[in-house]
Amino acid sequence: MMWTKTISSPLLVLLAGLAVWGWSDPPTAKRVATEKQDVSGVTVGLSPAPSDAAWEAAKPWQDGSAESVTPKWYRGNLHTHSFWSDGDDFPEMIVRWYADQGYHFLALTDHNILSRGEKWMSLDTVEKRSGGQECMEKYQTAFGDDWIQTRESQSDKQVLLCSLERIRERFEKEGEFLLIEAEEISDSVNGKPIHMNASNLEQLLRPTGGASVREAIDSNLRAAAEQAERTGRQILVHLNHPNFGWAVTAEDLAAVTRNRFFEVYNGHPGVNHNGDANRPSIERMWDIVNTLRIDKFDVLPLFGLAVDDSHNYHGKPGGSHPGRGWVCVRADQLNAEQLIGAMQRGDFYASSGVELKALQFNKQNQILELEIVPAAGVTYQTQFIGTRKGYDTKTQSKKDANGKPMPGTRAYSADIGEVLATSDSLNPKYPLKGDELYVRAVITASGDHPDPSFAGQKAQAWTQPVGWEK
Ligand SMILES: [Zn+2]
Ligand SMILES: [Zn+2]
Repeated sequence: MMWTKTISSPLLVLLAGLAVWGWSDPPTAKRVATEKQDVSGVTVGLSPAPSDAAWEAAKPWQDGSAESVTPKWYRGNLHTHSFWSDGDDFPEMIVRWYADQGYHFLALTDHNILSRGEKWMSLDTVEKRSGGQECMEKYQTAFGDDWIQTRESQSDKQVLLCSLERIRERFEKEGEFLLIEAEEISDSVNGKPIHMNASNLEQLLRPTGGASVREAIDSNLRAAAEQAERTGRQILVHLNHPNFGWAVTAEDLAAVTRNRFFEVYNGHPGVNHNGDANRPSIERMWDIVNTLRIDKFDVLPLFGLAVDDSHNYHGKPGGSHPGRGWVCVRADQLNAEQLIGAMQRGDFYASSGVELKALQFNKQNQILELEIVPAAGVTYQTQFIGTRKGYDTKTQSKKDANGKPMPGTRAYSADIGEVLATSDSLNPKYPLKGDELYVRAVITASGDHPDPSFAGQKAQAWTQPVGWEK
């Protein structure tokens, strides 16, 4: 795939010291959730915002710190399915694909399961799931009979699914390729799918359930936090595809203050990325969420990831293919602790095909600046998006054809998530004026996406909100 090859070029590696996040001082006043504050029907205070200790633990690397290692951009996908749940290929085939494409890290995130122990799969199931004999043939060609373990019962022939431990031995390479143990916690509340990926686990987390969407999200986050506390590991939890099954509203995302991450882009075609006539797109939700969190609830904004959520590895038309969404994380070293620490500081961007060489927010002069790595024949437009203080705070519920209020995210004014500036430069900059609650950048490439997950998709990159920490 030409396009992904371009993306994974060595240019992805950041040139020494080019980019520096300016937010060395964590905000203090803005981190405590207000108890039971009611704004547009939103009840907050389910859980406390991350504590000072949690923030301190993820201390940002400082400007000009002499002995610090030069940080690099590491590219990875934190949402992938295999035969261990409902994906249609062997886990090591999938891992091999990502490693070959130049990814630095990958999390296999099967539904409510870790790739541990013995799991045998009937060859009939392999064939049915993957849509033919080709899957087993490709597997045999790639790994050979010495690697592949099969057994025969009276009724069928079975193949052993490879454990993560064994895949790690073969594929992990220090500083080059890392596998992060993870799962997709797949919960549901009143038929609504509540899916959250937990990365860098020591033990499987079972879905906790909850009386409401917000309670379920919060209690799954709490379970992950307990494991992190008990094991001393950094565990990253992000909320998946909020518009899948129209399960999670912007108000839900704003209200569960323990949550810090969500998927601003998920490459599965079924996740309603663009919303519909009555429901906002994921990006619109992000702006609503961050406006509410910063302005009304005094908590940290949500950071956005792009992921594949890949299930289909044999080119299934309309399927959920690999290679559509990833994050680029700036870290000193390629290990889970460093990557997750960097993500907690917001030192990463999400991409569906646009690569950045530099990304910096200078806290002193309040300038957000990026440098785009151009691909041949492609032009780029950057939008700086934010909400200004004094925005129109009125909201109303959406109404159906009979004028009856509809469930779901309310309607908010156009002041939220306003386009503050646009640039066609490869080195776009935005000096904050001081009245912004936050600013983020979204970069959109010209031309059609080579493997779109929705009609009309263009390759994009999304940077994290800045300017809120003052
Ligand atoms: Zn899911
Ligand atoms: Zn998934």
